[in-house]
Amino acid sequence: MAKKKIAIIGVGKISQDQHLPVIDKSKDFVVAATVSTRGLSHNNLPVFKTPAELYRAMPEVKLVSVCTPPGVRHAIVREALDAGMDVLMEKPPTPTVSELDDLVAYAKKKKKILFQTWHSQYNAAVDQAKKILKKDGVASLRIDWRESVRKWHPGQDWVWEPGGFGVFDPGINSLSIFSKIMPFPVFVDSAKLQFPANRQTPIDAQIVFKSGEAHQPKLSAGFNWLETEGEVWTITAETQKGDQLKLEKGGAVLRVNGVIKVEKPSEEYELIYERFADLLKKKKSDVDGMPLRLVADAFLLGARENVEDFYW
Ligand code: NAP
Repeated sequence: MAKKKIAIIGVGKISQDQHLPVIDKSKDFVVAATVSTRGLSHNNLPVFKTPAELYRAMPEVKLVSVCTPPGVRHAIVREALDAGMDVLMEKPPTPTVSELDDLVAYAKKKKKILFQTWHSQYNAAVDQAKKILKKDGVASLRIDWRESVRKWHPGQDWVWEPGGFGVFDPGINSLSIFSKIMPFPVFVDSAKLQFPANRQTPIDAQIVFKSGEAHQPKLSAGFNWLETEGEVWTITAETQKGDQLKLEKGGAVLRVNGVIKVEKPSEEYELIYERFADLLKKKKSDVDGMPLRLVADAFLLGARENVEDFYW
C-alpha cells in the first residue's frame, strides 16, 4: 500500500532527532513537507512558514505531526482539525487541562483522529511492569527523574516561561509511565516546587501521591534538572508479594529483584508511528490525559520555594 503523506509542524530538536529520521524509515508514512517559522526544510521538500500555507498548497496531505512547544499547540491542532487533518501531537499535549479536553471534543466533532503521544509509554519493559503490578499489587513506588536541562533543552527559553512546564517537561514522561502501569487511580497529595528566582517554572519538584487503596501504598516522585552525572530516569516499585521492580533508562530496562527481565534498545518513536498507522486504520483516537492532570495538580497543590537564578 502507498505510504501516507505526513507534514511536520515545527522543525526543532525532537523533529530532527526523532520524527524526521523515523518517518524516513517508516513503512507507513512519508514526509511530504515541513512547516517551519525559520524556513527549515527536510531533504529539499516543500517548506511553509505557516500551517495555513501548507493546507492551501498541498491538499493531498491529510496528516500532520505537531512538534512545537506545547504553548502554541491548541491553536495549531484546532486549525489542523479544521483543515481536515488527522493529528499526532508531541508531549506534553497542551499547557492546560481544559485545552486538551477541548481538542479531544473538537477532534470527535470533526470526526478526525487525535493521537496524543507519550513516547516513554512505548517500551516492552513498561508493558511487563504493568502486567506484574496488576497481578501482584503495589506496596510502594518511587520515581527518580533527573537530567541536565542544558543538555536536553539547550537555549530553549520557552521551558522557563509560564506554560513551559520547567522540570515537568521531562518529569511528565515518568508520569506517563506511572499512569500506564498503576493498577488503581492515583492523586497528588502534596508537592514542593523549587523555582529559580529569575524564572517562571520549577527546576526541582518533589511530589507525594495518594490513592484510594486500603493498604495505603507509599508513592512519591523527585524531578531535578541540574543532574550533571548523566541521566537518572528510574522507577522502582515493591509488589505486595515483596518483589522489587526497577524500570531503568526511561523505561527501556526492567529488573526484578536485581535480575534483568526485559532490555530492548529504545524504539519509542518507531512504535509511536506504528501506533499512529494502527489508529488511522481503526479510525480511533488515543489520548491519555492523566499525566497532564497530575502535573496540573502538582502545580495546584505545590508549595513554592525560590532558589538561585538559572542562566544557560
Ligand atoms: P525546540 O527545539 O524548541 O523545537 C520546537 C520547534 O517548534 C522550534 O524549533 C520551532 O520550529 C517551532 N516553534 C517554536 N515556537 C513556535 C511558535 N510560537 N509557533 C510555531 N512554531 C514554533 O523544542 P523540542 O525540544 O523539539 O521540543 C518540542 C516538543 O517536543 C516539546 O513539547 C518537548 O517536550 C517535546 N520533546 C522534546 C524532547 C527533547 O529531547 N528535546 C524529547 C521528547 C519530546 P521552526 O523554527 O521550524 O518553526
